[in-house]
Amino acid sequence: MDAATWIGPLAVGAYIVAALLFVFSLGGLSKHETARAGVGYGIAGMALALVASLTLLALGDPLVGLIGALVAIVVGAAIGLWRAARVQMTGMPQFIALMHSFVGLAAVFIGWNGFLAPGAVPHELEGIHRAEVFIGVFIGAVTFTGSIIAFLKLSERMRSAPLVLPGRNWLNLLALVAFIAFTVWFVIDPQLWLLVAVTAIALLLGLHLVASIGGGDMPVVISMLNSYSGWAAAASGFLLSNDLLIIAGALVGASGAYLSYIMCRAMNRSFISVILGGYGIAAPSRSEAATGEHRETSAEEVARLLADARSVVITPGYGMAVAQAQYPVAELTRLLRERGVEVRFGIHPVAGRLPGHMNVLLAEAKVPYDIVLEMDEINDDLADTSVVLVIGANDTVNPAAAEDPGSPIAGMPVLRVWEAENVVVFKRSMASGYAGVPNPLFYRENAAMLFGDAKDRVEDIVRALAAVHR
Ligand code: NDP
Repeated sequence: MDAATWIGPLAVGAYIVAALLFVFSLGGLSKHETARAGVGYGIAGMALALVASLTLLALGDPLVGLIGALVAIVVGAAIGLWRAARVQMTGMPQFIALMHSFVGLAAVFIGWNGFLAPGAVPHELEGIHRAEVFIGVFIGAVTFTGSIIAFLKLSERMRSAPLVLPGRNWLNLLALVAFIAFTVWFVIDPQLWLLVAVTAIALLLGLHLVASIGGGDMPVVISMLNSYSGWAAAASGFLLSNDLLIIAGALVGASGAYLSYIMCRAMNRSFISVILGGYGIAAPSRSEAATGEHRETSAEEVARLLADARSVVITPGYGMAVAQAQYPVAELTRLLRERGVEVRFGIHPVAGRLPGHMNVLLAEAKVPYDIVLEMDEINDDLADTSVVLVIGANDTVNPAAAEDPGSPIAGMPVLRVWEAENVVVFKRSMASGYAGVPNPLFYRENAAMLFGDAKDRVEDIVRALAAVHR
């Protein structure tokens, strides 16, 4: 039997198995205990998909198809490995944003290729093919420039404050209406200038959508762009008639959209506002300046406070990740528990710079899972807590979110650490957090600042604790 007659169906079968493995992978990644197996399923699915795709290419023109793909894989994998090996954990969000931009750019190229070299499209499917080209280019271009702006904002190469152009919602609406009208026109009469126009409109829309979103909403933007990149990949799958790309793209698109929805709910933000580039979010009217006298403390004083405490809650944030303070934090936790102090962690859903950032760091340092609680699980207990240690967190513990309606982060649920008997804030200065909002917590009577690098300061406390008698 000719190899082509059985390799084709075998490859399709391999694609279906790979798609199932991707579904298992997503399922596995949803829990700590099964995450490792989830990653394994994902790797197996991707390896199977690659082998099947390369085999199909070898059936065609081996020289151009197979060798071309192998060269692209080797070059791409080498650059990917080189960059990924160097990226710090704290630099992951901007790295991921950059990766999303490549998916978007690839979708734009595939769309343009579908127009310039359409291949053999049956006459009755020409209209659908043109719509696929147009939609693929549009989603890809929005994802491309949106992700670049997200990369610039997350890496602090661009200000995180929202860009508020006059009539910004009308601009977005105009772009959307133009896209729909041009799509209809292009399906009827595929002219080159229409494709050029939609590419330009989508590139500008991507820039504008993400530039209009403020620092506090950036976590949602990352998962939203993740979702867009999935839909861009699915659109490319339609153009390339590749079922696996359609399924994998749809999985990423749908799960990213759901994650964005969950994060919006956790942060009390409207999902529609965020995906429409800040639609309906009024510019902050007035924000009470955080002023007053702050009180400084020392590692020795904090060690005494902790030794006398009944219960301690640690609320970590981005600064713990920067300082890599999770190991001394885990050691301090162990020492306090040995002394009979109840120690728990309170994790805000957007603490750090990635969903689950703090959980990963604490798991790495072997902090037991059962004392690491979500914000909603711990918030009501904070009023009955002797000491809260705020380690490198800022926006996620800012009382202005709960108390100042004019604040840019008003309405965002935060850890109510100020309700505890004592609060110790670990940071290097009085600077604001990622959202750029001043924090009145630092001036509260029950709060004290412990300045310096979080890792050094926690290590100082661990040493000082040894000198405090039980
Ligand atoms: P913040 O970014 O609000 O604050 C972190 C604080 O850590 C800073 O105020 C900084 O103060 C301090 N810090 C930095 N380095 C050190 C160090 N070496 N030692 C001690 N302190 C240090 O952190 P949060 O975790 O509270 O909030 C996260 C913010 O990031 C939110 O606004 C969220 O919306 C946003 N975000 C979250 C994402 C996610 O998915 N989780 C993604 C994108 C954005 P100082 O400079 O004075 O030391």
